[in-house]
Amino acid sequence: MMTTQYTPAPYSEWRDVLNHLIAHPTDAPNVTCPTCGNNTIHIVFPGNPETRVGIAAVWCSTSQDGVISGRLRVPSAQEMTPWDEFNDQTTPFTIIPPEYIPSDDYEEKQF
Ligand SMILES: [Zn+2]
Repeated sequence: MMTTQYTPAPYSEWRDVLNHLIAHPTDAPNVTCPTCGNNTIHIVFPGNPETRVGIAAVWCSTSQDGVISGRLRVPSAQEMTPWDEFNDQTTPFTIIPPEYIPSDDYEEKQF
């Protein structure tokens, strides 16, 4: 299905896009994908629409790379995607992980 293989951009570049779009979600169509250079970036806020606790997921529908944030409080005006509707059918992307941190200094968090 995928015709072009892109080399994923470093996490640090994706993190900048993620942080920008969390603050300015409507800016997504104007943002250039760090991996492939296309303006095909999307952002959704999966989580619990009742508690407004969720995460941000940013991805590119051309290169299908993306990143997710840690837990955050989603502003009440922002549309959220319920957890059970957030899956690889609706958001088909490969998560670029943060840079490796030695396990001695880092405790794995379970979602
Ligand atoms: Zn891309």
